[in-house]
Amino acid sequence: VRADVEALALVDHHCHGVVRCDLDRPSFEALLTEAAGPGPLGGSLLDSQLGFALRRWCPPVLDLPAHAPPEEYLARRADLGAAETTGRFLRAAGLAALCVDTGYAPEPVLGPAELARAAGAPAYEVVRLEQVAEQVAAGGGTAAGFAEAVRRELAGRAAEAVGVKSVAAYRVGLDLAARRPGEREVAAAAGRWLAAVEAGAPVRLADEVLHRFLVWAGVDLGLPVQFHVGYGDRDVDLHRCDPLLLTGLLRALEPTGVPVLLLHNYPYHRQAGYLAQIFGTVFVDVGLATHNLGRRASALLAETLELAPFGKVLFSSDAYGLAEHYYLAAVLFRRALSTVLAAGVAAGDWADADAVRVARLVGADNARRVYRLPPL
Ligand SMILES: [Zn+2]
Repeated sequence: VRADVEALALVDHHCHGVVRCDLDRPSFEALLTEAAGPGPLGGSLLDSQLGFALRRWCPPVLDLPAHAPPEEYLARRADLGAAETTGRFLRAAGLAALCVDTGYAPEPVLGPAELARAAGAPAYEVVRLEQVAEQVAAGGGTAAGFAEAVRRELAGRAAEAVGVKSVAAYRVGLDLAARRPGEREVAAAAGRWLAAVEAGAPVRLADEVLHRFLVWAGVDLGLPVQFHVGYGDRDVDLHRCDPLLLTGLLRALEPTGVPVLLLHNYPYHRQAGYLAQIFGTVFVDVGLATHNLGRRASALLAETLELAPFGKVLFSSDAYGLAEHYYLAAVLFRRALSTVLAAGVAAGDWADADAVRVARLVGADNARRVYRLPPL
């Protein structure tokens, strides 16, 4: 099973763009984690599980010895330039396909077509629901016409996409009501939001009714819906991002048959695994945490695979900004998957052929099925 996992081309079902520019040490460290920084007395964020994993695995891709000091590593990175560095890490990640969330781009980043060229694998778009609503709101219009305008815009964007994504977790938390909002409810909520925007408020959607409306609008298009869950940046109130808060909504969505993908989930990955077991339409990953936890990634994956059926777990990097994240997520995920599966085989609890089959499901085939990606 170890050799099989090593050779397995992964489908990264949730990732983002890579920055185009060269990076000095402060900007590199700023993109390393979701933190604003270590704080004045905190030392370097490279002194962490993530930092040590990066120093173990990334320097050899740039022709340096493992554990090269950060200064040497960043100097070599600058020598090679952003494009060469990105190409090396994306190719080394060994990806079969990418599903790219194009909704988060505070800095200029590579789009799906450029990522596909760098990775040597096809890239598909995942449309961020709130971004579509925010575009509509920024363009003015009436509260009564808001829902229809969003549906039209979303249908246009979604024609080329493989899924949609909700960031309700970031804006209002995951305690979303368990039913589709009525048209009048949506118009009233849109009216409040549009009036606030007109009065000068930033065009940033944060309204429980409208987030829920967007989820149903995505479901109506039959597209798999991704939810940000659990760990994220400082905007997240983590206590409101437990996936169990979605239980009622997941129950209401289940009859539609549309897949719901709970992203990241850490530290609620066991709760997410439970939801994946009891709801036929729920799928989970532990992207972002896989590389943030460094050598503890195998413990994380082992816990995720406790309750979640093996046909319901996917691989993602949640890479953003640094090309290193693509590579590290893939390396640490492969190592973790090997460790967990090989331990089952070594104990005599699992047949080797079953372990190999599970590796292919989790690494690639589950994502192909859920997003209806074309075969290789
Ligand atoms: Zn993401």
